[in-house]
Amino acid sequence: MMSKKVIVIGAGFSGLSAATSLADQGYEVTVLEKNATPGGRARSFEADGYTFDMGPSWYWMPDVFESYFNKFGKSVSDYYDLVRLDPSYTVVFGENDFVDLPASLDELKALFEQWEPGSAARLDQFLEQAAYKYEVGINQLVYKPGRSVTEFMSLRLLLDVLRMDVFQSIHTHIRRFFSHEKIIKLMEFPVLFLGALPQNTPALYSLMNYADISLGTWYPLGGMYKIIEGMVQLAEEKGVSFLYNQDVKEIEVEQGIARRVRTATGMFEADVVVASADYHHVERQLLAPELRSYTEDYWDKRVMAPSCLIFYLGIGKKLSNLRHHNLFFDEDFGPHAHEIYTDPKWPAKPLFYVSAPSVTDASVAPEGCENLFVLMPVAPGLEDTEALRERYYDLIMERLEHLTKQDVRSAVVYKRTYAHRDFIADYNAFKGNAYGLANTLMQTALLKPSLKSKKVKNLYYTGQLTVPGPGVPPSLISGQVVAKEIAKEYAPGQRLPVSN
Ligand SMILES: Cc1cc2nc3c(=O)[nH]c(=O)nc-3n(C[C@H](O)[C@H](O)[C@H](O)COP(=O)(O)OP(=O)(O)OC[C@H]3O[C@@H](n4cnc5c(N)ncnc54)[C@H](O)[C@@H]3O)c2cc1C
Repeated sequence: MMSKKVIVIGAGFSGLSAATSLADQGYEVTVLEKNATPGGRARSFEADGYTFDMGPSWYWMPDVFESYFNKFGKSVSDYYDLVRLDPSYTVVFGENDFVDLPASLDELKALFEQWEPGSAARLDQFLEQAAYKYEVGINQLVYKPGRSVTEFMSLRLLLDVLRMDVFQSIHTHIRRFFSHEKIIKLMEFPVLFLGALPQNTPALYSLMNYADISLGTWYPLGGMYKIIEGMVQLAEEKGVSFLYNQDVKEIEVEQGIARRVRTATGMFEADVVVASADYHHVERQLLAPELRSYTEDYWDKRVMAPSCLIFYLGIGKKLSNLRHHNLFFDEDFGPHAHEIYTDPKWPAKPLFYVSAPSVTDASVAPEGCENLFVLMPVAPGLEDTEALRERYYDLIMERLEHLTKQDVRSAVVYKRTYAHRDFIADYNAFKGNAYGLANTLMQTALLKPSLKSKKVKNLYYTGQLTVPGPGVPPSLISGQVVAKEIAKEYAPGQRLPVSN
């Protein structure tokens, strides 16, 4: 019997995960990717002896990666070498005021205790609850396809959901345990990964603190792109075909069924289509208006996670006073957050983040040099010009030099900038978003854009704009969830009748 043909649009984390999961179940899978290399937002590039990861730099939730490879009888260690970072990261609060976050829980508790007596014991309590949320959240909730309320109808799960503070904000939750300003900043930081303000993020997401503090910050030697290389290798081992430089232009639909996918240079027959490219782009650009599940008004009302301005810098010398991950929280987050979420505009006094993977890994920079990835979160949908990028380059570099007490700019031997226009050109990103849809309460589970089209029977979606949400681990999970949904409706071995 001929296997069903599945076309996956896009070779980012979610597309790779869906393609591999489907091939493993016996489908004939082809991935069509518009760019010349896989990885999507997690691509990498080389320049002047430096290897830059273009997107993700934080490797959190190592269990999610391990269970992904285990599903196929493999292990992370078959594809790349992981090291745990210690300190996990550094937070710069101001001039001569910074803290290294130790990987050891006991050392972290001692640090908290110095700032706020009694906070070490409260951290234990906080983490006990957070561990429970992680267990239920990551092992049960995020693997739900979010298609029907009945998925959440088991009594145990309902009780679990109620116990998980879904309706209280993480902002309030953290303040019930801690009052010291620095502790609050540290505890609110992981929530920023979810793309919304702590005030608008359910306390369920204290599971992110568990991921940060208890599970730790890891790094794949060679860079984050090693994960992509490993996933592509595994996909190919399972029989997935990859076609690059294939910009999909249209999903051809007949009587409510997707039949073919047309790229700039070819036509591909499909029994099932999985779109892992940005949801809005697929709906607006690849489908006729009557086949779209959501209106433009719906999309306009979505809370997007931020976009960002990035500088990839090759530094022709070694720098001091920098760790692998460095958070510059020397300005108040309130006004910057307001300029991201409430009154979108380029920020007056931004917070920023610097990753220096060459601190851990000599392979990503020439000898005696430093590889820097500098990121400033910014609202999506803003005007993005060279002049603006340069203005922020000066502003950030000035602060970086001042706070780390060294000259950096004169040692820059390679520089590339990246922002909204690039996200749109490279990934067809809605409003130039970097991280997809924010994880607010009103955009959780059932309330996210559905992973199955409402109008086209055999069209599915995966990735950071659908369930379970933005970030590498959720994207990995999203691909597995969609593959499972497809298997429920289309057995791999029966082809659909193909019309001419
Ligand atoms: C700067 C940055 C930093 C980040 N940092 C972290 C981090 O530290 N840790 C973390 O966990 N997460 C991080 N994230 C988030 C994480 O990278 C993303 O959530 C994840 O990579 C999204 O994967 P995806 O498969 O949903 O989408 P994508 O990676 O965007 O994949 C979609 C793919 O579809 C392709 N495509 C688009 N249109 C078409 C078309 N018409 N035809 C064919 N192909 C098409 C795109 O080229 C792309 O390859 C970061 C993201 C960014 C941008």
